[in-house]
Amino acid sequence: MEKTILINPATEEEIASYDRLSKSEATSRIATAHQTFQNWKKTSLDERITLMRKLADIFDQNKETYAKMATQEMGKTIGQARSEIEKCAMICRYYADNIHTLVKDDMVATEATKSYVTFQPLGVILAVMPWNFPFYQVIRFAVPAVMAGNTGVLKHASNVQGCAMALENAFAKAGFPTGVFTNLNIASDAVENVIENDHIVAVTLTGSDPAGRSVASIAGKHLKKTVLELGGSDAYIVLDDADLDKATDLATYGRLQNNGQTCIAAKRFVVLASIYDEFITQYTQKMEAATMGDPLDENTYYGPMARVDLRDELHEQVEETIAQGGRLVTGGKIPKQKGAYYPATILADLTPGMTGFDQELFGPVASVIKAKDEEEAIRLANNSQFGLGSGVITGDSLRGEQIALRLEAGNSFVNKLVASDPRLPFGGIKTSGYGRELAKYGIREFMNTKSIWIE
Ligand code: NAP
Repeated sequence: MEKTILINPATEEEIASYDRLSKSEATSRIATAHQTFQNWKKTSLDERITLMRKLADIFDQNKETYAKMATQEMGKTIGQARSEIEKCAMICRYYADNIHTLVKDDMVATEATKSYVTFQPLGVILAVMPWNFPFYQVIRFAVPAVMAGNTGVLKHASNVQGCAMALENAFAKAGFPTGVFTNLNIASDAVENVIENDHIVAVTLTGSDPAGRSVASIAGKHLKKTVLELGGSDAYIVLDDADLDKATDLATYGRLQNNGQTCIAAKRFVVLASIYDEFITQYTQKMEAATMGDPLDENTYYGPMARVDLRDELHEQVEETIAQGGRLVTGGKIPKQKGAYYPATILADLTPGMTGFDQELFGPVASVIKAKDEEEAIRLANNSQFGLGSGVITGDSLRGEQIALRLEAGNSFVNKLVASDPRLPFGGIKTSGYGRELAKYGIREFMNTKSIWIE
């Protein structure tokens, strides 16, 4: 029997191991999800709201347990893990409060006696999810999908299988019927078989570009809709009128939050030439002052990366960038200690063609880029295969807004780090993926937008 083995990235010790599902067990769970859908789609919005409020309470009641589980399985600091669980509860309540509006029929004036657009659930949705926000990423998909009347099956990242099981239990404890939300503990090479299953009507994947390409091509072959939330290398333009203390605070938190492993983290800082040296001086002081350590210690600013292999890949990208002419300002050395630790690192003077400019650095490494003026800064920011988030840091919000409108990304924020918010759609363009999550745009991705005409 194949097993999923969980390793604590802070200690490199085994936490637990779980048997993977066999092909027939996975098929049987998908059949249950399909069976459940036949009744679940007929439940009233108010019945769903009652259960969703219970799920929110379960997140509140189990905050400490869930947070510790996330920290031990993927290394995020305990304070940020608690915030993640609070955000899950918030999302449940947001959809409970707003579902009536989000899926309300749109009346359309035509020559008909009555014509309108209505939104109906599709069936069983497969979600392939990453480890970096092991509770929230799943909830961001599952809560709207289930509130819309769909059922969901989850293929979670292998290293956070404890969190995946906790999520399935949470839905059950809240009173959702068996099959509304189901965890499939399967390997990534078993995903193809799930997508091919006739009961699966659509697929959402949050993860890397290679995983997205693979899943989308299989789904395409079977004509099943996909939503892809992939990687990013978000550029933040720091203008010459920016408050540098604020800019470097944002840059430090942006690059070290979640131990540097957030899709929408600020990764490239495009800084105007007149403030470039001063930005680097202040930024270096702050990155060096941030404490790396045990993620369960309340005083730790950032912990280990999620896995040793991911840390080693990041280090290779750093070394490659330096070999290509990038300047190592601080960090850049693997510490001699147990755990997937990597120090806060700054690479400066990066230009297109260098690894640290072109690729996503999914860890605590910042890429700093010099631009001679505003126009060049916009060109450099947009010179990327990715288009997830982006930002402008400036003392003039109007100037910031004009630039934000020209950045090629799904989200562009002025004087604030991009963060997902259920009131606004979230997603990317270019190789950061397609489709949206959250807000009315997200919930409707997995609904049949249906026209009704009464002559
Ligand atoms: P990953 O390796 O692509 O894994 C994501 C999920 O896909 C996991 O469940 C993984 O399963 C599965 N998977 C991997 N290869 C697959 C394949 N060929 N077919 C089917 N499933 C496959 O990504 P990650 O390292 O966990 O996450 C980091 C990446 O995700 C970064 O690029 C980050 O920017 C991106 N991300 C994007 C968003 C967003 O909202 N846009 C949010 C978070 C993260 P196993 O664990 O079993 O391999």
